[in-house]
Amino acid sequence: MDKKYNADVIVVGAGPSGISAALEVARSGKKVVLVERAQYPGSKNMYGGAVYTTALKEVFREDFDAIPYERVINSHTWAFLSDNGSFNITNNDYNTKDALAIKRFNLEKWMIDVVKRHGVYYIPNTLVKNLIQENGIVYGIKTELEDYYAPITIIADGANSLLAKEIGLRNKFDSKDIILSVKEVIKLDKKTIEERFHLSDDGSMGVNKQYFGTDFGSIKGIRNLFMMTYLYTFKDTLMLGVGVNLADLTRNKLNINQILDEVKKHPDISPLIKDGEIIEYSAHLIPEGGYKKIPKLTSNGVIVVGDAAGFVNGVHFEGTNFALISGKLAGESAINALNNNDFSERSLSVYRKKLEKSFILKDLYSYRNVIERLYSRSDSIAIYYPKKIKQFFEIITSANCVSKSVQIRKFVFSIFKDRKFSDLFKDFSSIFKCVMDVFFGK
Ligand SMILES: Cc1cc2nc3c(=O)[nH]c(=O)nc-3n(C[C@H](O)[C@H](O)[C@H](O)COP(=O)(O)OP(=O)(O)OC[C@H]3O[C@@H](n4cnc5c(N)ncnc54)[C@H](O)[C@@H]3O)c2cc1C
Repeated sequence: MDKKYNADVIVVGAGPSGISAALEVARSGKKVVLVERAQYPGSKNMYGGAVYTTALKEVFREDFDAIPYERVINSHTWAFLSDNGSFNITNNDYNTKDALAIKRFNLEKWMIDVVKRHGVYYIPNTLVKNLIQENGIVYGIKTELEDYYAPITIIADGANSLLAKEIGLRNKFDSKDIILSVKEVIKLDKKTIEERFHLSDDGSMGVNKQYFGTDFGSIKGIRNLFMMTYLYTFKDTLMLGVGVNLADLTRNKLNINQILDEVKKHPDISPLIKDGEIIEYSAHLIPEGGYKKIPKLTSNGVIVVGDAAGFVNGVHFEGTNFALISGKLAGESAINALNNNDFSERSLSVYRKKLEKSFILKDLYSYRNVIERLYSRSDSIAIYYPKKIKQFFEIITSANCVSKSVQIRKFVFSIFKDRKFSDLFKDFSSIFKCVMDVFFGK
């Protein structure tokens, strides 16, 4: 191989992980090329609605202050839905600025402007077709027009990473490890959003609602689905979406668009979106295989980051922070390899060690069984208990002239009547094991 390099590092994919990796390398004075298939940054990307300030500050440092957010997300609600209403837990903390609502095309555009100022050579509108490799070593990329060469290529091409698959770092995803999500952007007057959600008009307050439970809806099969609905407030839009396990969708022959339509009719949600105009509709995959499905992260001349490596904590809707920090750590590892002039798998494996020391592999490890355990008990956890929690609070809040102790006893007996003792034991042991895993962590 004639190694006439165009750059020290090539990064494929200008999402948060690729941009962060490119910025880290550029800051060290090395030459970095960032290639993105979309014409406009962020136009191919999708998420629920919040990016996290700690990771952004760590990556963008002083540039962070100019980030173009629409609202601070500091009111979080977990709502358990039933046919006729919901039981809600809300945490409002108006002093925090941990999460920001930013539209993806604004986020990526801003990030690209920053990295270009730091010397990254950005090539948009260019699809990377293949990696250039010889004798198991990656030397660069093939695009539709040109080939680019570098001793290190960072793969940041997202959830369906074809490039990581191409070089055998990753297997094909199992449909049970993938969430398909569809989302609508619903336009409403700014003032209407502020009135409906009790928000101030200066962007310092914003809402995220996560809805659990599927005991509603007229579509056959929807009542037994392990799914999640999310809603975020932006300045003059709402983001409303549902996420469903791909294997569940296929097995139940369900159409996810119809599920979203059904969700929109729920009495908790329909008043919030009333008179809104749908201005955007998108769908995207979320890798949820977690720790057990992490691919091989490095090979000779190559590193995998972000969603391409499956770095998402689906339980907490965290992905952009994993992407930003894994990109940064990959950038540091690339700089280290360039300084040592050693691009071998062994040299680049320092990346995995850095990930292990960070929250990324610690969190993925402690959550390694959580989704699987909850999923295996999904009929009770997603359907039955949300209903019972709601019933319990109906007893607490109703003044129906029936003794509370009679009602509570009846309620407790109903659980033992509904469910076999062995099922109750399995449910609670699953939840207990999840809590213990997270508590003891790594
Ligand atoms: C519905 C949904 C809701 C979510 N909600 C949240 C949330 O609220 N908060 C949060 O933190 N995370 C959330 N996430 C997760 C988060 O969006 C991702 O974890 C994050 O975007 C991953 O960043 P990335 O850079 O690794 O990949 P991506 O953002 O997917 O970027 C990959 C980039 O690579 C480009 N690309 C792909 N193939 C090629 C190629 N061959 N050549 C050139 N370019 C290529 C793509 O166009 C894209 O720009 C959500 C995800 C989804 C789908």
